[in-house]
This record gives sequence, C-alpha cells and structure tokens, in this order.
Amino acid sequence: MSSVIKGATVVSTHGQRQLDVKIADGKIAELGVDVATSADEVVDATGCYLFPGFIDAHTHLKLDNGPGTPDTADNFKTGSIAAIANGTTSVIDMATPHRGHSLEACLKTWNEAAAGNSSCDYSYHMSLIEWNQQLAAEIPKMAAHGITSFKMYMAYDNLRTSDAEIYAAMKAIKSVHGMLGIHCESGALINALQAEYLAAGLTAPKYHALTRPNQLEAEAVNRYLTIARLVDLPVNIVHLSTREALAVVRAARAKGQKVFVETCPQYLLLDEHCYDLPNFAGAKYVCSPPLRSQRDELALWQALAGNEINTISTDHCDFNFKDKKRIGKDDFTKIPGGMPGIETRPQLIYTAGVTTGKLSLTQFVGLLSENIARQFGMYPQKGVIQVGSDADLVIWDPEKSGVIAAKTQLQHVDYSPFEGFKTKGAARTVYLRGQKIVDNGRVVTTGKGQFVARHGSDYELV
Ligand SMILES: [Zn+2]
Repeated sequence: MSSVIKGATVVSTHGQRQLDVKIADGKIAELGVDVATSADEVVDATGCYLFPGFIDAHTHLKLDNGPGTPDTADNFKTGSIAAIANGTTSVIDMATPHRGHSLEACLKTWNEAAAGNSSCDYSYHMSLIEWNQQLAAEIPKMAAHGITSFKMYMAYDNLRTSDAEIYAAMKAIKSVHGMLGIHCESGALINALQAEYLAAGLTAPKYHALTRPNQLEAEAVNRYLTIARLVDLPVNIVHLSTREALAVVRAARAKGQKVFVETCPQYLLLDEHCYDLPNFAGAKYVCSPPLRSQRDELALWQALAGNEINTISTDHCDFNFKDKKRIGKDDFTKIPGGMPGIETRPQLIYTAGVTTGKLSLTQFVGLLSENIARQFGMYPQKGVIQVGSDADLVIWDPEKSGVIAAKTQLQHVDYSPFEGFKTKGAARTVYLRGQKIVDNGRVVTTGKGQFVARHGSDYELV
C-alpha cells in the first residue's frame, strides 16, 4: 500500500513548507515538490497541515498500584482509541512494578496489557518505587529491551523513595544513557498538612490543593536537581505546574545544568477555582500536583513561548466521577487522583496556543512530538516527517471547529474536565506506520499499535 499526500504544509521544528509526501511500506518514502503520483492512493490535503504523529509521554493506561487502588476508567484498548482520534500515534505509559517484584515481571505485565489492544504505538517508562542491587542489575537489561526511561516519585507513601535511593538510581540510569523523570512534590510535608486539615474537619476537594502548596513542588524540584548535579545527569521534571518550580529550573540552567521540563494541558488551561465547584464536582479536578493559580498558568505560557518547557504530555489517568471519585466524598485524601486528557491535548494546545499566537506551529510540533521523540530515544523513527521515518502522520484541518463534551468523547470516562471548551483545528486523517487509522475524523482501524524499542536519550537537546 502506498499513498501520496499532496498540497499540505509539512511542519517540523525547523519550519514549515508545502511538500508532497509519499508513504510506502509504512515509512516516509519521498518528500518533495510535485512527487510523482504513482501510488495506490492520492490524497489532496490542500489547506491542511501535515504533522508528525503526536506522542504522549505521560499516560496511565494501566494503573496497578496494589490492593485498594481503584481501576482507571480507560485501559490500553479504550485510551489508545481516544488517543488516535486526534492524532496521538504513540504513547509512553507509566509501568509500575509491585514492591519486591522484578522490572522484567512488570514489563511482561505491561506488554500483555498493550499487545493486541493498543491502537497506537507504545512504550513505557519503568517506575522505580524502591532501590536495591537486583533492580540496579536490571537497568541495563531494561535498556536492552528498549526501555530507556525511568520514573521515580518524591510523593505518595507507596511509591516514593529516599534521596539516597534516587542518587543511586541516577548512577545506574546514567550508565545506559537513560532518562529519569520524577514526580516532584514533598511527600512528607504533604502528609503533615493533610493530617492537620483532616483533624480540623476540612475534608472537601479544595483542601487537596491547599495541602499541596506551590513551595512543596519547588522544594522537591530543587532537591531533585541537587541530586542530579552530584551525578551529572540531565533529568526530566514531569508535570511541572508552578512559577516557583520554574524559577528553580531557571537558576539551575543558568549554572549550566541540563534540565528537561514537561507540563500538561490542565496546568495551562484550568486553575484552582475548579475545586470550588458545587456538588463535589471539584473532585473531577483532583490530580497531583493540583491545579494552580492563574499567575502560575501565565508563567507556564510564558515559559512555553520562551522554549523553557520542552514537552507537553497529559498525565492521562482517569477515574469515573460517579463511583470512583466519590470514594473521597468525606475525605479529600481518598479521592483517586488524575484526570482524562489523552484525547484532547492536540486540539487544546492548538486552539489555546497556536490560534492565539502564543505558540508557533514549529513550537507546537516540538512540544507534542519531535522534542518528545528526541528526549526519549524514538527519534528519527518517530517525531519527524523525513525519508525513512515511520509514516505516523496527521493531516490537520485548521478550520474545523468543535466543542469538547463528555457525551461525544472517546475517552471511556463519565466526564470531561474541559467540558464546553471550544476548539479550532482537528485531525482529519491519521496514519500509523502508513496505515490509515483515522479517516475524515473517524477512527477506522484499531488494535494495530506496536511496541517501540527506544535507544538512549539525546541529552544535548537542553
Ligand atoms: Zn502521572
């Protein structure tokens, strides 16, 4: 099967140009002006943009944090269908092993969950929720499997490790040229604040945010970057949400430290006022870090414009409001944390960023695709439209408008945090390794996702 896409404006981080693109055998075969149309299919994409398939480097499509953890609403099957609908053709999911179990066993569990189910290509960040010699010996084995990125936590009692353990893990990760991402919040202080609030009878969703103040993110980021300096390892900060944490990053970079920063649409488009919604609706917005102030939002947009933030992913981790979020009705600490987002990221960022002039098209492509591919060792297989790369392509109609609504979404969850948000721009046609998976805005092919074996990270990017 071969196709030629004609007339679209091809966008990369280097610029944009009207080019024809020929796809053959799942790869980009040719790129140029007036490419010969001897193909099975010729697609007229005049007036559209052609983007490399978007990559979401932060999803939780299989949450397995032990007994008592409620199931997420989406799994690989449903979540990946929602992903491809708007052009996300690869995800890197958070794989979390059980305490005392091997990384190998965790990898097997995640492969079983994704294989045959995922409609987009996939890989995993392997979580390190403890540290010991066995796990250290497994890091090179993970890299040999193509798992070159890892996740650690400074919050959550069941997931977090000590600073010394983070230090030791960094050394092992550095040896495989891997990438570490850390959830930066001061877990011990959050525990103390939560206990105080609950003892005072303050149990509503809004106290979720008040017990996780900005400084606790900045403190953890500072500690993380301090440890990384000892090891001389470029590191990634996941879901950065505050202006205080940005200031820590700026100071570290000014001294020459290499720091990658991810943020998420919810920190750019929603704020702490959501927690005041009546009828427990604030619980829909409980995620960690929490939604912040409008000042923080503004600071994040300014950082995006100045290329100080490298990637935008979603932290998609959704729980139904009706039965799961309500578990925390009388205690905000029991509200399952997370919200949906895998489906809406491209439209939200295009609408709020590109159509307003806050972001250029080339920045948009970097933040949602190319930078992620480079940072996590998938480039140039993914993240770019060039000869030899996977033909993961999004024909984007910039004129198509819509309204985000729970009742029309593909995410398998009973609400949308962005309900009523008016969007401009949408994926018209999406290809995954040359196969048409979305046609005229409708998902037409599912279950074709494959594991992506990744190489080491491009540390020189920042
Ligand atoms: Zn997460």
